[in-house]
Amino acid sequence: MLRLPKFRLEEPTDVAGAVALMSEHGEDAMIVAGGTDLYPNMKHGLFEPKVVVSLGRIAEMRGIEALADGGLRIGATTTLAEMAQSALVQERAPALAQAASLVAGPQLRTMGTAGGNVMLDTRCQWYNQTHFWRKSLGYCLKKDGTVCHVVAGGRKCVAAASNDTAPTLMTLNASATFANDEGSRDVKIDEMWKADGIWNKEPGRGEILTSLHIPAQSKGHRGAYGKLRDRGSIDYPLFGCAVRLDLDSEGVVEDADVVCVALVARPLRIKKVAETLRGKKVGTESFAEAAKEAADLADTQAKPMDNIPGESLYRRQMVPVYVRRTLQAAAEGKGPVHHV
Ligand SMILES: Cc1cc2nc3c(=O)[nH]c(=O)nc-3n(C[C@H](O)[C@H](O)[C@H](O)COP(=O)(O)OP(=O)(O)OC[C@H]3O[C@@H](n4cnc5c(N)ncnc54)[C@H](O)[C@@H]3O)c2cc1C
Ligand code: SF4
Repeated sequence: MLRLPKFRLEEPTDVAGAVALMSEHGEDAMIVAGGTDLYPNMKHGLFEPKVVVSLGRIAEMRGIEALADGGLRIGATTTLAEMAQSALVQERAPALAQAASLVAGPQLRTMGTAGGNVMLDTRCQWYNQTHFWRKSLGYCLKKDGTVCHVVAGGRKCVAAASNDTAPTLMTLNASATFANDEGSRDVKIDEMWKADGIWNKEPGRGEILTSLHIPAQSKGHRGAYGKLRDRGSIDYPLFGCAVRLDLDSEGVVEDADVVCVALVARPLRIKKVAETLRGKKVGTESFAEAAKEAADLADTQAKPMDNIPGESLYRRQMVPVYVRRTLQAAAEGKGPVHHV
């Protein structure tokens, strides 16, 4: 049985108290929200914080608010289940509701939070293992070792961003508010990633994500999320893709975006998707052709590696399939795309 190491749990009741605790304990402290990622990682010896600062009692960080301009504000400790089931999120940001509905399984979505999903640690099949397992292998660059088992001779960790909601937030042009000991700042989700699997975020380890802001989308907004996974529940993505389509009143594509996850350390935007789909009317043969072309773009640009479970060749073959199906689903106002 894997046991949690000893640590002190702090439960502040406001953001200022949480920031003060993170500042006081520095690198000895870590934040916990739902604990569905942090605690398993601590059991595996991947993190050894002396102090864990829980956000669970901070009321101001919870809830979904409809903004008068048509946008949304989602508190960081809002659960994935709340996001998935929210009529507001389903209406204003359908891809986000769909992605949240496919994270893990029901119990984990009841505990897991919006902020914890954005701040999820990158994943790798050589890293998300017990201490015994990793020691037998001689560890790796991300924790305790000097080599990478994915890229022979590699000097940079390529563990994969595996958070289902991150690519949807990117297609929605969302931003995140972080609190730190200098105050608070807004970071565009698009700009918060680094190509470094050890820590793939621009905000520092001690900064607290307090809320997400999703701006009002276009009148003809359509969104969907597609997720490849081994089973119909519980599994992390073997590949995930978020789609946004902006349609005019005739159903013609004005703008489009596709962002994929479970590939490299940062979510990956597929280039030239908008150029390919612009001017195509949904429901027509020309849209279907353009969706295939966009899927081919993803096939060329997204190259699954052996960093996460699932044979990389199989995952690669499924990339264009999932991108095409998810584009079609968004066009039809449907989704999510997954198998059960
Ligand atoms: C069996 C299993 C299957 C899973 N499947 C999926 C899946 O399919 N897709 C997926 O995306 N995830 C999956 N997860 C991971 C996890 O359940 C979710 O990502 C969840 O959203 C994490 O949220 P949390 O609140 O539990 O995060 P926590 O575990 O509390 O925290 C996760 C990380 O984020 C940091 N953190 C948390 N909140 C904040 C904040 N507000 N500000 C700054 N840092 C913060 C923590 O320090 C920690 O490093 C799975 C987990 C398990 C155990
Ligand atoms: S990508 Fe390489 S360095 Fe990073 S966790 Fe995996 S094996 Fe370790």
